[in-house]
Amino acid sequence: MKPLIPVAAPALVGNEKKYVMDCLDSSWISSNGQYIERFESAFAEFCGVKHALSCSNGTVALHLALLALGIVPGDEVIVPTLTYVATANSVLYCGAKPVFIDSEPETWNLNPALLEECVSPRTKAIIVVHLYGHPVDMDAVMAVAHKHGLFVVEDAAEAHGAEYKGRRVGSIGNISTFSFYGNKIITTGEGGMVVTNDDALADRVRQLKGQGMDPERRYWFPMVGYNYRMTNIEAAIGLAQLEKVDWHISQRRRIAAQYMEYLKENSEISFQIEKPWACNAYWMISVLLDELIPRDIVMKMLLEVGIETRPFFYPLHTLPMYCELVRGTSFPVAEFLAAQGMNLPSSASLSEEDVAFVSEQVARILASVLRK
Ligand SMILES: *Cc1c(COP(=O)(O)O)cnc(C)c1O
Repeated sequence: MKPLIPVAAPALVGNEKKYVMDCLDSSWISSNGQYIERFESAFAEFCGVKHALSCSNGTVALHLALLALGIVPGDEVIVPTLTYVATANSVLYCGAKPVFIDSEPETWNLNPALLEECVSPRTKAIIVVHLYGHPVDMDAVMAVAHKHGLFVVEDAAEAHGAEYKGRRVGSIGNISTFSFYGNKIITTGEGGMVVTNDDALADRVRQLKGQGMDPERRYWFPMVGYNYRMTNIEAAIGLAQLEKVDWHISQRRRIAAQYMEYLKENSEISFQIEKPWACNAYWMISVLLDELIPRDIVMKMLLEVGIETRPFFYPLHTLPMYCELVRGTSFPVAEFLAAQGMNLPSSASLSEEDVAFVSEQVARILASVLRK
């Protein structure tokens, strides 16, 4: 049998090895060194923002962003229920309360039309998530934020290089975060980045991630900070990945287009839409099965022929630590998406033959479950 086709694997196709060897040869292996600065400034330029601050992962990037904004116990932060758990956990880390919002059916991102009903006198911020690589309708979100004086955090962990009306995601809200985990669009192994145009927020993030040390006075700690730094080795991998980011994104767009072409006759499967104002970075090529199709059986049958898939995230309001918060509220769109959605193999290194094979198997299995 063919080897397993994973849902997402890193593609180390550039200078990764060379730059890592340079770190080892020079012994700059900790959280100082030229690759940190080079990666940060190249990433800021890539996003079209003034500041990029590296950190240990995408989860702490969110924590840093909320701390920098001054989110404290008693505050509320609006978060989509259909996202990775880290988005809401970062709110709890600050002692604040996540207020969940349902998805909209086309892009599967938070539904901006529902935002106003989530706003209370305690609301301080909205975290938008560009789910699976598709940007959120930012004008609609920014309008509500403006009206109510709320901060906007973009959790762009899944959307490096995605564009909203020609602007890269991460450059639109007050402060934004990225992840470079091994399965993300570009990776550093583990890693994250906070980006912003705001000088004061950038200064706060820099201080917080470096144990709170006073920038003017070494080893003087006027606040409780964190050790949330990235290493030079991770940044070396990140810089090499970033040099090839156009390739990484165009591969994913090519793979998405191929799946759509191969599966266009299959009406029981639909893809994440790409809005006319959006450029989807297709972190995960994601499909929704219509309600007659038992998704988990389809996923199991795909695994039997060596194809790994992933179910969509469980909506966060269904998890033990969050279900108490949402009594009486319903999230029908997110629940439907979570029950019927799956991510297809999406690695940048997938060949056209791999995509053809996966598509054939998906079509065959859909036909067989429909016959039963
Ligand atoms: C991956 C991810 C994160 C967390 O990133 P880590 O680097 O794994 O900590 C946060 N938010 C979203 C939406 C993610 O997909």
